[in-house]
Amino acid sequence: MVDKILIIEDEISLQETLSYNLKHEGYEVEVSGNGLDGLNLARSWKPDLLLLDVMLPLMDGFEVCKILRNETDIPIIILTARADEIDRVVGLEIGADDYLVKPFSMRELSVRIKTRLRVSHQLHDLQAHENGKSEKANEELVFGNLILDTMRHELRINGTPIQLKPKEYELLAFLIENRGRALSRDLILEKVWGWDFAGDSRTVDVHIRWLRSKVENDPNQPTRIVTVRGAGYRFEG
Ligand code: CA
Repeated sequence: MVDKILIIEDEISLQETLSYNLKHEGYEVEVSGNGLDGLNLARSWKPDLLLLDVMLPLMDGFEVCKILRNETDIPIIILTARADEIDRVVGLEIGADDYLVKPFSMRELSVRIKTRLRVSHQLHDLQAHENGKSEKANEELVFGNLILDTMRHELRINGTPIQLKPKEYELLAFLIENRGRALSRDLILEKVWGWDFAGDSRTVDVHIRWLRSKVENDPNQPTRIVTVRGAGYRFEG
């Protein structure tokens, strides 16, 4: 399925460049030159991703972003030019997923779009997966000598409780809930740390290393939390 991208940008030359390049990359593209029409188009056309300028006629990008964030979880990338705008976007009080500072390269934009779409699709897959699950929320998940007790928030190995930091527990629980599935670092960051987290995917790698030191027989040859080359990590059992 082709992903749909809505561009809300009033600068005609940028609008045209973005539209041309994104169509060339295979996306379906619609453009709007003001905040109000853009908001309505987002509601009716239901794009998979939104590129949103800040200074716009009729309604500014921050307002559009705030309104849409209450209605939909589509990824929103803010296109910003001024330093004081950047401060507000970085604060992410408006609920954007990412931002780019003008002028930016198409290559950089393309990478950000792909990342955001990938995470968004994975989140939807997970939601579908979670909805289809009959598993109880509170239970003991048993994998050989490893038991994750989700009611007590406790990991036991060979019956002995293992000390986990809160994020280690959440990460392990997330991996186990989705056992057998490769989970990308971006997705793990989004689900375990949340969108307002300022770190990067190395945070995930560090926590994986800590977890392995606690759950693997040989942390250097992991069999439970395996690395999936180019994709991320997968819990095997
Ligand atoms: Ca503008």
